[in-house]
Amino acid sequence: MRAPTRTGACNGAGHTMAESREKLLALAAELAADFATRAAEHDLNNTFPIENVERLKQTGYTALVIPEEHGGLGANLVDYALCQEQLAQGCAATAIAINMHLFGLGSMVERATGRPEERLFFDAIGRGKQILGGGISEPETGGDWGYFATKARRDGEFYVLNGRKTFTSLSPVIDLFMVMATLEDETPPRSATFVIPRGTPGLELVETWNAMGMRATASHDLVIRDVRVPAIAMANSRPVGPVDESAISLFTWFSVSVAAVYTGIALAALKFTREFTARFKPLTLPRPIKYLPGIQFAVAEAEALVAQSRALYLGIANEYLASPASFKGEPGLARVVTAKYVATNNAVRAVDYCMEAVGAHGILKKFPMERYYRDVRAGVNHPLSNARARELIGKSALGISLAETPRW
Ligand SMILES: Cc1cc2nc3c(=O)[nH]c(=O)nc-3n(C[C@H](O)[C@H](O)[C@H](O)COP(=O)(O)OP(=O)(O)OC[C@H]3O[C@@H](n4cnc5c(N)ncnc54)[C@H](O)[C@@H]3O)c2cc1C
Repeated sequence: MRAPTRTGACNGAGHTMAESREKLLALAAELAADFATRAAEHDLNNTFPIENVERLKQTGYTALVIPEEHGGLGANLVDYALCQEQLAQGCAATAIAINMHLFGLGSMVERATGRPEERLFFDAIGRGKQILGGGISEPETGGDWGYFATKARRDGEFYVLNGRKTFTSLSPVIDLFMVMATLEDETPPRSATFVIPRGTPGLELVETWNAMGMRATASHDLVIRDVRVPAIAMANSRPVGPVDESAISLFTWFSVSVAAVYTGIALAALKFTREFTARFKPLTLPRPIKYLPGIQFAVAEAEALVAQSRALYLGIANEYLASPASFKGEPGLARVVTAKYVATNNAVRAVDYCMEAVGAHGILKKFPMERYYRDVRAGVNHPLSNARARELIGKSALGISLAETPRW
């Protein structure tokens, strides 16, 4: 397992963590500025920014969380969150799409034990610039990471998979699909993740994505029809059932980064609000609208919401880096899920306050505010959704296990 890294310590490559973080953030800011120039166009046309992914590859950002020895940038959980927060300010769709590639990698690196196949895998991402994509969500099972309608049947040294995945972000550029499926004929029932290369016969992308927000993510459907893969394509397996503490690492990387992406949208909205309210001066007022109490109070609310979120998810990320083992059981899971829950909901409210401050100009297509307003709304739907998060957080606080029956 990779040793936890902290700002001030040396990362083994001759520079301090603070210097590394500064470089990573400068890269994320440069990419964000570039992506911002095309974000409106891709959103409007529902197109996928392939050129952004090319830049992410060239600059090493697609290997942000991969250790430097494998050609990656060596970001830890906090670096990763700060970079994603920054990237989302330029193009939230690109940020959340690449997040679907990065979060699982971060967790894999954290849990790595140095096996040769792990090293090959990290090389494929770091040096080979391969892109991973998700096959978790399904029409039948929504955002539940514990159950899959997609089935994998053992056939000698092979598995044969059938099913349909939805919300496959990054679909035009995925090299390796991470398909989660229930293993047939296993007692007790188990599910597994299969790594399936693009182009494998039976894999078909169906271009279904046309959404209100995060339009440029190309989160199309993936149809899996009699896809035959060698048994070694099975990356890991677990008992079928609700997400449990074995998923804490995965949920931590996911929750913290999703929190950061949606907070990034709120930060972008605040930036636009500052600029707009400083220059918009109705004829009837002596000064721009930023001098009005209503504007100041709305901005204050948005600032406070963003500050709460950042303190929470960066705090959780730092605590996790310092002591992953202290995140145990459902209370540990509840801690990381709280960060995502608070930040994605706060981001919606913060953008709403910004919208209120900007006024009617906020809904005009010529300004980015209406895109922020639509994009930010996707955040609460990523696992754990609001209802599931409240159940976990509430039960955990009350000392009730998720496994207890009856459920309510
Ligand atoms: C922009 C974007 C990109 C995405 N990219 C990917 C990707 O690359 N790969 C991928 O696999 N997925 C991806 N997703 C999917 C996403 O992470 C969720 O899996 C999906 O949005 C959940 O779908 P759902 O809300 O329809 O389903 P559900 O999670 O089933 O939720 C539907 C509603 O029912 C409630 N609900 C359902 N079951 C329960 C329960 N047992 N207890 C309490 N409440 C319940 C929920 O709270 C919610 O209100 C993406 C989503 C978005 C918005």
